[in-house]
Amino acid sequence: MNIHPIVAGNWKMHKTRNEGVSFVSKIKNRVLDKVEARVIFCPPFTALFSIVEAIEGSSLSVGAQNVYFEAQGAFTGEISVEMLKPEGVEYVIIGHSERRRIFGESDSLINKKIHAVLGGGLIPIFCIGEKLEDRKANRTTDVLKIQIESGLEGLGAVDPTKIIVAYEPVWAIGASEAASVEQISEAHASVKSILAGMFRDDGNDVPLLYGGSVNEKNAAELIQTKGVDGFLAGGASLNEDSFCSIIEQVSNFYKR
Ligand code: PEP
Repeated sequence: MNIHPIVAGNWKMHKTRNEGVSFVSKIKNRVLDKVEARVIFCPPFTALFSIVEAIEGSSLSVGAQNVYFEAQGAFTGEISVEMLKPEGVEYVIIGHSERRRIFGESDSLINKKIHAVLGGGLIPIFCIGEKLEDRKANRTTDVLKIQIESGLEGLGAVDPTKIIVAYEPVWAIGASEAASVEQISEAHASVKSILAGMFRDDGNDVPLLYGGSVNEKNAAELIQTKGVDGFLAGGASLNEDSFCSIIEQVSNFYKR
C-alpha cells in the first residue's frame, strides 16, 4: 500500500482562536498545492471550528486533541465524537502522554475512546511511547506492546486508511533532542510487528508517525528513517517557518 506521508501539529494549550486562524491561513498560502504530505492541525477546542472554516478548499485537515467516548450526557467539560464530526473535524489525538500522565488516562479509557472515534467515523491518531525509566530497564518493546494491545483491544480488524499510530517516546517530547535514528527505527520495527501480529498486512500498513522534538533541523534526517511515515510535532508546529519547513522536507523526501 502506498502510504501518504503525514505531518500533524499538536498545538496543545496554545493559540487563541484569532491567532490560530491567522497562523493556519498563512500556512495555507505558503504550502498550497506544493505538498505531498497530509497536513493535520490539532488546535485547542476553542479554535477548532474556525480553523475548519479557514482551511476550506485546501488539502489541509483538522484534528481534535481529545474526545470523550460517550455520545452525550452528564459529563461536564467533555466533548463527543458526535459533536466534532459534523463540524468538519476528521482526526482525534488519543492517548497522548500528557493525557496519560497529567489527566490519568488509562489504557482502558484510551481503548474506549478509540472505539468511539472509529465507530463515529473519525480517524484516531493513537499515541504510544515509553518513559525514560522503561527504556533504561530495557522494557521499551514490552511497554509498546501493552499500550498497543490494550488500546486496540476488541477491534477485529483495522483499515490502515482510518487509523494512525504515533510513536512518541515520553522522554523525547519537548526535549532538547529527538530520539536517534537507531532508537526510532528499532521502536518502529517493534510497533509494526506488534500491529502485524494483531492485524496482519493491514496492521503493517497502518501509518506510523514519529513524535518527540521534531524540528526543521532534524526533519530531513528523521524522515528517512525506516518505518517512519511522517511526524507528530508539538513545539515546532507552533511556529510558521518551522512547521512549513518540516512539511516541505517531508514532501521533498516523498517526491524523490
Ligand atoms: C507532542 O507533544 O506530541 C510532541 C511531539 O511535542 P514536541 O514536538 O514539542 O516534542
